[in-house]
Amino acid sequence: MAKKVKTPKAQPVCEHKWKRYGHRGGGKGGQTFVCLTCDKCKEHSERPATEPERKKIHADKVLFERRQKLMHKAWRPVQKLWEDIEKSGVGWPRGDSETAGGKDKLAAGMERLAKRFPEHIHNARVDDDYHASSDLWFISHFYDDEKVGRGYWGTSVVYIGQCSDDPPVRFFLYPDSHMKYVLATATKLHKKARALNKGKRYGEV
Ligand SMILES: [Zn+2]
Repeated sequence: MAKKVKTPKAQPVCEHKWKRYGHRGGGKGGQTFVCLTCDKCKEHSERPATEPERKKIHADKVLFERRQKLMHKAWRPVQKLWEDIEKSGVGWPRGDSETAGGKDKLAAGMERLAKRFPEHIHNARVDDDYHASSDLWFISHFYDDEKVGRGYWGTSVVYIGQCSDDPPVRFFLYPDSHMKYVLATATKLHKKARALNKGKRYGEV
């Protein structure tokens, strides 16, 4: 008796429903391709961009680059200041009266940059853990321009403690998540602090 051979079921042919998800190419004189994915079978494909598509892609790229340039206008010099100090090998510890340490250089540099970018750089001022006045710089990444429109991406924060030998710290806050959480926490604790200092109980507020 002949062995029964299993014949694989014919795969149903997908009537692709292509959806655009991006593009590639378009560098120096190169061709631009539109990247596609099928909504049903997830297969990928691409085709050369049409002239109007190519123009739109290029215009979007130019707009993006202009926005980026404006957005990091104040942050780039801060980054450079930070990196130059690191490269100089002076180290982060505070210097003495004769030689400025890395943190002194950073603190002085930030003061200078805040004067140069008063709309972008603000000092919230805090104490370090020795209760000595210290800097908490907020550097805004935004654009507000006739040609490229308006937008606020986020805020970089630079902390420079005065008396400890710890290196400075930097981190980033998105406005609708991190910034909101920091504000909510600070507001809550501020209310409690005021209540306790007026003689109320901690749980009362
Ligand atoms: Zn398909």
